[in-house]
Amino acid sequence: MSEQLPLLDPPPPSNVHRDKRRRWAERRIQELRELIRLHDYYYYVEAQPRISDREYDALFHELKQLEAEFPELVTPDSPTQRVGGEPLKEFPHVQHRIPMLSLDNTYSREELREFDRRVREGLGGQPYRYVAELKYDGVSVSLHYREGTFVLGASRGDGYTGDDITQNLRTIRSLPLRVQPVEYHGVPLRTFEVRGEVYLLTEDFLRLNREREQAGERPFANPRNLAAGTLKLLDPREVAKRPLRLVCYYLLTDEVELQFQSENLRLLRQMGFPTDPHWKVCDTLEEVFAYVDYWEEAREQLPFQIDGIVLKVDSLRQQQQLGTVARAPRWAIAYKYEAKKATTVLEGITLQVGRTGKVTPVAELKPVFLAGSTISRATLHNADYITKLDLRIGDTVIVEKGGEVIPKIVGVVLEKRPPQAQPYRFPTVCPCPNRQQLYRPPGEVDYYCDHPECPWQIRRRIEHFASRRAMDIEGMGERVVDQLVSAGFLRNIADIYELHRHRAQLLELERWGEKSVDNLLSAIEESKSRPYHRLLFALGIRFVGEETAKILAESFPSMDQLAAASIEELTAIHGVGERIAESVFRFFRDENNRAILERLRRAGLRFAAEAPKVRLQAGFFLGKTFVLTGELSTMTREEARRAIEARGGRVTDSVSRRTDYLIVGRNPGSKLRKARELGVRELSEDDFLRLLDQNPVE
Ligand SMILES: [Zn+2]
Repeated sequence: MSEQLPLLDPPPPSNVHRDKRRRWAERRIQELRELIRLHDYYYYVEAQPRISDREYDALFHELKQLEAEFPELVTPDSPTQRVGGEPLKEFPHVQHRIPMLSLDNTYSREELREFDRRVREGLGGQPYRYVAELKYDGVSVSLHYREGTFVLGASRGDGYTGDDITQNLRTIRSLPLRVQPVEYHGVPLRTFEVRGEVYLLTEDFLRLNREREQAGERPFANPRNLAAGTLKLLDPREVAKRPLRLVCYYLLTDEVELQFQSENLRLLRQMGFPTDPHWKVCDTLEEVFAYVDYWEEAREQLPFQIDGIVLKVDSLRQQQQLGTVARAPRWAIAYKYEAKKATTVLEGITLQVGRTGKVTPVAELKPVFLAGSTISRATLHNADYITKLDLRIGDTVIVEKGGEVIPKIVGVVLEKRPPQAQPYRFPTVCPCPNRQQLYRPPGEVDYYCDHPECPWQIRRRIEHFASRRAMDIEGMGERVVDQLVSAGFLRNIADIYELHRHRAQLLELERWGEKSVDNLLSAIEESKSRPYHRLLFALGIRFVGEETAKILAESFPSMDQLAAASIEELTAIHGVGERIAESVFRFFRDENNRAILERLRRAGLRFAAEAPKVRLQAGFFLGKTFVLTGELSTMTREEARRAIEARGGRVTDSVSRRTDYLIVGRNPGSKLRKARELGVRELSEDDFLRLLDQNPVE
């Protein structure tokens, strides 16, 4: 990758001849794409960004603008085209050219020695060495490049046939859509296959899970499950919202004869693929063990999860010599780390009541140090989980922290059970002062408190409402909410906007003074201007996360419209399933919720979207004016007009300065001359058809 790119001459003014500007744009587009690719590489592959996010965004924005001006210059390998295409009905199957075999794996060092013995015998006295690599806990994928361009990506499947998940993989920013040719012994590598692992950073995993929980959705068990579930999504736009990462470790090609795995890892890096920097060439088994030992501890510091290490014979010729047996290569093995475990005492079980009233049992543990952190609590999920393990207070329990990230209790040391320990009886009432009877909806594993004034739920709902991504009321965090609820100032979210009437009483509260009270009140006042979709999210309707709130706001641009929507109207929206629809429908039919909404409306919160109704598909055609001239070979003018209008564009009969594009068919008339005089942009029939394809009608 080149370090420096020459800057082109400044752009010609927009009134120059279109051809001239186009020629300039063509070069500038190339340059911008190069720059974006280079900075993607620094950011995602080297993790060493060299420009700020803001500067990066400016490059991206400029490219998008130029591509919008000259849509005929858009190519599939442009960085703007990562998220494209429509949701699929199902994934087509792909036959793997070379099977994606799984490796034998072991937890035992003795078996590693055994493996090494077999390698030594198999190679009959030749010297050999290993490459040791970290084994990322992710999902294996195969990536095909033709003439340097990413053309196909597949999942492993059964090893012989996988799914074509090209569209989903394209959304991964560290995956190069184009590769600069790198020479290997004088031959440029252009057509090849790369294999790697799609994974998530632990931090991203925890954040996504938190968001899911906030939206009342079931969290994923571990980062690998989340990555796997994401790659199976049929809508690439959904995939693009999740920050998937890629790490590559195999390079396969017919163009040249590659020689060493270690060399391939270096080549992959040079070509711009993300690779793991921690691999090591090991000449002896002792060096392998040292590597294994080192990473068993050091893995806690990695920002992602590994579940072991992979050992490969470095020489590809020797790999071939050793061959494959029973679906697993004889030249490689995975050594897996045992999940980290510790034993400690279960001192108690408490109940947590969430925003939706869901009751979650939590284990209160005698603090114990495990895999880099002190653990004193662990979720017990639900009543069934406790019953299944027969957990009793006072028990000595086994806590595990594996690829699960979140510690969990996996068993009981029965020998250490105190004689008086009783089976745990799940409480029948909420820990709230109302002592509300808990109920378990048919078919669900969880218990709920449905008391409308359950202070636990009220706290959580208010915290959520005030949180940064919702109404963003500064200074209204957990502690303040707790205090205001306990002191009786807040019983629901609408009370927030009446706090100013109690200024005098607030001043009497512990820890509050003139300045802090006024700051809080002005933060509350300021929150009234948050957009309608943020309010929708803040309301805490079950299953309505940030994204869903945006979708709902686009389809129902006012609260009244949304409140009046039927279940059928709601499910008709792309991205809104039955579960969400029912939850929204029920929310607006609840008397209590309606009363609260009325108070929020009177307080002056935004109950409608700012802009006039916009379509979900804010595509190329939206709001633009087109004129047609000449004959189109694939459709009549009437059909073309309908196609444009269906996508939110307008068609007029004559060219004026307000015309955005002239669509030019065969034998164009005088409109073409007029358009050129006025500098109106032109689209060929091919351009037009491609744009129609890229902007399908929902
Ligand atoms: Zn309760």
